[in-house]
Amino acid sequence: MVATSPIMSKSPINARQQAWIRALDRARLVSTHKPTYSPSRDSYRVYSAHAEKEYHVYPVELDGHLTYECDCKAGERGLVCWHAALIAALPGECSRRARHREAQRQAVNAKSGHALLMECFE
Ligand SMILES: [Zn+2]
Repeated sequence: MVATSPIMSKSPINARQQAWIRALDRARLVSTHKPTYSPSRDSYRVYSAHAEKEYHVYPVELDGHLTYECDCKAGERGLVCWHAALIAALPGECSRRARHREAQRQAVNAKSGHALLMECFE
């Protein structure tokens, strides 16, 4: 018998993750120009497939997770677009999310004992 992690077996890829994967596949297919990063605004400029338009992708925190929003039409409707997926897949952004997850984990661990107990009575 092979031991599997209970977390892994209970959480197959959800719809949202599938949307990100599909969007990234699309990005790899249609993206022709490298995105540019603007440190002052902490956002990326992403060019449309034929570079006739540009969109802005911003890292945002949502329900404790770091995700990305885009100002294109799909992004404004809350859909995962390939512009955001392109940015999310950048090595720098992958490590940013890893750092964010680690910080979240440490914050949860710090809330032990009394602090956690008191929260239950608020
Ligand atoms: Zn977009």
